[in-house]
Amino acid sequence: MRDPQSIDKQYLWHPFTQMQDWIENEQLVIEKGKGTYLYDTKGKRYLDGISSLWVTVHGHHRKELNQAITKQLNKIAHTTLLGLANLPSIELAEKLIKIAPPGLKKVFYSDNGSTAVEVALKIAFQYQQLKGYKGKQSFLTLVNAYHGDTIGSVSVGGMDLFHKIFKPLLFNTFKNPAPYCYRCPLGLDRKNCKLACINCVERILKKHNSEIAAMIVEPMIQAAAGMLTMPKGYLRSIRQLCTKYNVLLICDEVATGFGRTGKMFACEQEAISPDLMCVAKGITGGYLPLAATLTTQNIFDAFLGESREQKTFFHGHTYTGNPLACAAAIANLALFKKEKTLNNLKFKINLLKKELKSFYHLKSVGEIRQCGFMVGIELVKDNKTGEEFPNAERIGHRVILEARKRGAILRPLGDVIVLLPPLSINQKQLKELLSVTYESIKTVTS
Ligand code: PMP
Repeated sequence: MRDPQSIDKQYLWHPFTQMQDWIENEQLVIEKGKGTYLYDTKGKRYLDGISSLWVTVHGHHRKELNQAITKQLNKIAHTTLLGLANLPSIELAEKLIKIAPPGLKKVFYSDNGSTAVEVALKIAFQYQQLKGYKGKQSFLTLVNAYHGDTIGSVSVGGMDLFHKIFKPLLFNTFKNPAPYCYRCPLGLDRKNCKLACINCVERILKKHNSEIAAMIVEPMIQAAAGMLTMPKGYLRSIRQLCTKYNVLLICDEVATGFGRTGKMFACEQEAISPDLMCVAKGITGGYLPLAATLTTQNIFDAFLGESREQKTFFHGHTYTGNPLACAAAIANLALFKKEKTLNNLKFKINLLKKELKSFYHLKSVGEIRQCGFMVGIELVKDNKTGEEFPNAERIGHRVILEARKRGAILRPLGDVIVLLPPLSINQKQLKELLSVTYESIKTVTS
């Protein structure tokens, strides 16, 4: 192949990327991966500190996953779920329901996180209509939320940087301030706030429940917003309020699902069950695009009836329930069992917590937020005042470029440095990742 980088620059348009910047600068082309490492076309090795955008679970190039896909490939690569069924999607659905929070009984497949959210929103909306709650046509969302890039998922999102331009295209939602304790939108201190932010949720639900079909949240941690962790009890209170005011709860576990927070699903952290749960990313161990929206028997039943009653859920994507992706997901779940992934993770989560404390020695580290194996390090000009760096300095971006030189792939969310390594990372690699991150932050910010 001619220089792949220049061909890339000639033909590709990369996601979430200022292409002028991309074209003007040296870029990495990844050729292969093994375990926790990625290798570029020049043979240089990097620790995958972000699990290839939060998807890799048991490492790259896993024999078990490769074999499961190959085995399925020798039978059939794709067949539709519209009017037909296929074996891997059946087997996987049963396995998903077995590990899902109690009460979730049905699986609706799609192929990425955004579509899993679209499906949840449409099911919630139609459910309320079918139940006769005609006024319930809106959603309650959190500021800073990120639920994907399709128009519906952007409508329930709350990140101005990404979403402002599309405002005329979006449907209206009720927005509640997010629990961002480091910069509390209510100006309170977490030591004695008594979870005052939950009262805002109740105020909205009390006043507008007849207009709200569902509330959607990223359980425990708003990931793309900068790994904003929810205070203890927040998610549980949300669940209680939604039940009290007859509003469905959608938990978007696209980022948090499949072990990321230390439990199989983040909902388990507060022992709650949502009415709808969206999963994607880690579902196939980071191998193939697959997503699912799980829901309750009660919601499913509301859609039952004669064809002429038109209660059918008219939604479905071409690759819904793709057998190769489902086979990968089954193998992914088998590895969780075989390798006792969640059990082994406990030690690594604690190690991460312990080692991260030393980062506070750096003046530029404002807050470190961790939920299991999801970490956000918020960089600031001065950690005594919390003053932010000017955007133009692109501190986060510069830190990840520095980390590359030192052999790790990271990705910033603004000035928040994200660490989200594969769950299979070993202790030595984890320490190396932390050391590269520390040195990179130190070099760029001092
Ligand atoms: N929901 C959450 C919580 C996410 O973090 C993401 C992606 N980062 C999405 C939805 C969208 O997923 P996808 O990119 O697969 O559409």
